[in-house]
Amino acid sequence: MQTPDLPLFRFDNTYARERGPGFFVPWKPAAVSAPRLLFLNRPLAEELGLDPDALQGEAGAAIFAGTQVPEGAEPLAQAYGGHQFGGFSPQLGDGRALLLGEVIDRHGRRRDIAFKGSGRTPFSRGGDGKAAVGPMLREVLVGEGMHALGIPTTRALAVAATGEQVVRERILPGAVLARVASSHLRVGTFQFFAARGEHDKLRQLADYAIARHDPDLAGAPERYLSLLGRVAQRQAALIAQWMNVGFIHGVMNTDNMTLSGETIDYGPCAFMEAYDPRAVFSSIDAKGRYAYGNQPAVAQWNIARLAEALLPLMVVDEGEEAANEAIEAATEVIRAFPALFQAFLLRGQRDKLGLGDGRAADAEADTALAKDWLALLQTQHVDFTLGWRRLADVAAGDEAPLRALFADPQALDGWLARWRERCASEGGMAAEERAARMRRVNPWIIPRNHRVEEALEAASEHDDLGPFERLLDALRAPYEEKPEHAMYAQPAPAAVTACYQTFCGT
Ligand code: AMP
Ligand code: MG
Repeated sequence: MQTPDLPLFRFDNTYARERGPGFFVPWKPAAVSAPRLLFLNRPLAEELGLDPDALQGEAGAAIFAGTQVPEGAEPLAQAYGGHQFGGFSPQLGDGRALLLGEVIDRHGRRRDIAFKGSGRTPFSRGGDGKAAVGPMLREVLVGEGMHALGIPTTRALAVAATGEQVVRERILPGAVLARVASSHLRVGTFQFFAARGEHDKLRQLADYAIARHDPDLAGAPERYLSLLGRVAQRQAALIAQWMNVGFIHGVMNTDNMTLSGETIDYGPCAFMEAYDPRAVFSSIDAKGRYAYGNQPAVAQWNIARLAEALLPLMVVDEGEEAANEAIEAATEVIRAFPALFQAFLLRGQRDKLGLGDGRAADAEADTALAKDWLALLQTQHVDFTLGWRRLADVAAGDEAPLRALFADPQALDGWLARWRERCASEGGMAAEERAARMRRVNPWIIPRNHRVEEALEAASEHDDLGPFERLLDALRAPYEEKPEHAMYAQPAPAAVTACYQTFCGT
């Protein structure tokens, strides 16, 4: 147990200390009427070197609702800008969020702890600075689900109800989320300073990002170009992982793209059920800009915006020639993105297909094999997650569960023959071993939209956290087929999915 005279958090706040005026505004969370802890992520608390017992109950409620600023925290609202649905806003910033501070976790990694829904700030514009219980618990479910799937993500440390009302289309109970991130630096943070022509601050920011995420680049002459390349790498890897689990972020604005390569901001996100690259669920994305199949192209577009922002730092000499060289080098990173993404995607697809690392294999043939599989899922309206999962059963010798997902199972025959031949070409691996490997990468459980909604509704409308807790339990073991989790593996009825919409900024 924590002794009362020791601070609960050992903060070490580099952003507050090293980045000066212009980068943020020191700010306090709003006081709230009735703090109550709804969720504490005990394993994450332990990972952060915190004492979960000391944070449970009233003490945790007061801290995580924002009423009691913990010792050592230096809360601040970060400045950033960004492109939202293609249009540039020079100033967005933490309108309902605050960075509380940074801690070093058990593995020696620096992690931000931030609030979302902690009240108005100088960046709030017309907003109320608040968040509601449902959307904050959604961040828990989807974020923990993504984490269990091995996908880089910010994570929820806690959710506290505030006792306040939040006015949206309806009146909703208010909440504050405590979110952990390897940093909150976004493409939009760079755009903020670039748009103002504040190149000194831009350089300070870029050097800060390098110190934090790519310390091996510190001091190197071409470090800003290298930073761009690293972010492109991390984002290509991340989006490939999204694509391979059917995740649709829903609002890939440049202020929602991290330098760290972690998924951030679970707003109008959703998981695809029947495979369809055009899938889009967000109510504000009428044109499908952020549809499932557009995500790699949007990521590249966002990387181009980061390149533009960093460009002034990449020009190492006076004169037109140096400027052109910088533009050429940055353009090359942007141009290389699709191939980089495709390489990460194929690596993931090979794993999902139960194939080896493919060093000796034909990338084009394997790409076609994966593509044709996806085309089959699409024409047959097969659930993306279950389709992959049941392919592992085929590897183990049982075709029936996969065939049952197809309206016309015969459509599978030609493709299965090709896949078997490709598996055989690797030789050596026993059927059960291949099946086991496939089951380690093809989840049985994902955060299905209807189950997430159900859990959030029970919590928000009826103050019943049971469904939320049970779903969270299931999401934390996505690769295990436990009979008690069967309800979470089932797709929603097609009619439900057809009408499903997600909402932004709620
Ligand atoms: P998001 O869509 O959550 O990524 O937020 C985009 C921008 O809108 C950020 O600058 C947020 O701080 C701001 N924002 C979203 N919701 C609110 C709110 N309720 N009050 C104030 N600002 C908000
Ligand atoms: Mg955001």
